[in-house]
Amino acid sequence: MATGYVYHELYGWHDTGTHAGLLPADPRRGLQPHRHFENAEAKRRVHELVVVSGLIDRLTRLRPRPASDEEILRVHTAAHLARLASGSDAGDGGSPFGPGGLDIARLAAGGVIAAAESVVDGEVDNAYALVRPPGHHALPDTGMGFCLLANIAIAVAAVRATRGVRRVAVVDIDVHHGNGTQAVFAADPDVLTVSVHQERVFPPDSGHRTERGEGAGFGSAVNVPLPPGTGNGGYAAAMARVVVPALERFAPDLVIVAAGYDAGATDPLARMMVTASGFRAIASSLIEAAGRLCAGRIVFAHEGGYDPVYVPFCAHAVIEALAGVTEPLPDPFSPNFDFMAGQDLQPHQEEAIAAAEALLADIPG
Ligand SMILES: [Zn+2]
Repeated sequence: MATGYVYHELYGWHDTGTHAGLLPADPRRGLQPHRHFENAEAKRRVHELVVVSGLIDRLTRLRPRPASDEEILRVHTAAHLARLASGSDAGDGGSPFGPGGLDIARLAAGGVIAAAESVVDGEVDNAYALVRPPGHHALPDTGMGFCLLANIAIAVAAVRATRGVRRVAVVDIDVHHGNGTQAVFAADPDVLTVSVHQERVFPPDSGHRTERGEGAGFGSAVNVPLPPGTGNGGYAAAMARVVVPALERFAPDLVIVAAGYDAGATDPLARMMVTASGFRAIASSLIEAAGRLCAGRIVFAHEGGYDPVYVPFCAHAVIEALAGVTEPLPDPFSPNFDFMAGQDLQPHQEEAIAAAEALLADIPG
């Protein structure tokens, strides 16, 4: 089994500048200058752990390339591309970037394209794109939520335009709603978007079960909002009862996973409890489903995850699952997080999952 792996040092050079978490530093408001939550550390440390552990030797390095104007404009407006070329924020006032930010964003989108093309072309069996900046909140006409370009949507459009791929399923496990990907493909019955997220975190008032796609695409957007505090048991149940059955009904030619790790037990931007073993289980269920449904064609594209200490172990576990590693790196934090009360499925989480199960019948088969 060959697993492709995308990373480039420039991803760490995307500069979100001095901030107080996600707000601009402002002493007048008591906001002492610090770092932006979305800084290079978490992803850079994922890559360094992959190297230090030796996992890198099991992976096939794929070279990212910059996404072209043509590739970007399949998803975004020319006005948005022009804003990224000349500005310092992607459009919502919360997605800053430094000089050369568009070049790095092109390389992130192009990294997901390279991973998807390599899987579709059979050069590798599956792939992990460790890209930055993230992409799943970006809308056609604006960036949002630290995202400049819609990396995954651009990759989906690319393989459909140039590789003859017809049906793509995007499974978004980032703890925030995958609103951008959903919006791009809302009216398209040939792209299934499934987002599993903490209810009503970001974007505000987004990701409700009632958002189900539009027109011919009705049923092709599936939202699984989960209550705060959901851990490994709740996520496993959501995968088994909603996400995997959704993939089975849709029967994709390719699966792309928006792999965020901010559902992790220590993340500053959400309140979930997933651990490295939980992320491994989530990934394994998706890999197994892709094996049955589309010859194993699955690409993971890195999205959020803001604890630089714990995200590396969570992403490492997912990459190990992709590569079929049988003797995984132990999670040193397992004694702290895997046995916390509430890791198993709770009754109020069960209710949310049961409600989402009702959406399966309308997925276009
Ligand atoms: Zn997120």
